[in-house]
Amino acid sequence: MQGFVSYAAEEPIEPPKVVVVQTREEHEDSFDYIEVDYSQLDEIGTYTVTAYCGCEICCGKWASDNPITYTGTNATEGRTIASDGNSLGYGSAVYIEGLGERIVEDKPADKILRKYDGKIIDVYFDSHQDALNFGKQKLKVYRENEYTMTNKIVIMLSNSDKAIEFVQKANEFSEDLDLVDGRIEIDAKSTMGVCSLDLTKPLELRIHSDNEETIKQFNETFSQYMEG
Ligand SMILES: [Zn+2]
Repeated sequence: MQGFVSYAAEEPIEPPKVVVVQTREEHEDSFDYIEVDYSQLDEIGTYTVTAYCGCEICCGKWASDNPITYTGTNATEGRTIASDGNSLGYGSAVYIEGLGERIVEDKPADKILRKYDGKIIDVYFDSHQDALNFGKQKLKVYRENEYTMTNKIVIMLSNSDKAIEFVQKANEFSEDLDLVDGRIEIDAKSTMGVCSLDLTKPLELRIHSDNEETIKQFNETFSQYMEG
């Protein structure tokens, strides 16, 4: 089957209302979300940012209630964007001004990529109205630089007793530690946050540090939670 290719950018949506959508905020009551510190990131340029959903207007013959992206993932609001995977890398994270972290999972039509010289990002929304409201914006796009490059291991906490012990160990680090479950990113130092995750599934633990000693200590401390 063909990949899901967005056509939203083909016809500029008018009028371009500037709406800052922060989907993560909707969940702030239940999770400790990590604020994006843009000063710690590398700006890679200003992109034309449009929006699409899985409907026929946006996706033509690829329209679906459960759209599958070019990379085979389920298109997910708050995570999925379509962009030039050759330059940004499919599966890699970029940070969009006002929106936060998104993952390059989908691919716009080739002629759209050519039209914008690759400097186009199409943001996935569940609802067509939300995509319309987003309109077309010019936004700065960032990615992690070497300094903020995360070092990560996959761990399994299994139960809340283990999770509480884990949080204590995480708090011994002065660096930021994130626990990632799909699109959800939790402060690994928050007991409430960590226990809100599905502990029966493998989770990715990241530390924000470029210090060799710290990373070594990170691996030594948390290797006991690694799977298998
Ligand atoms: Zn649509």
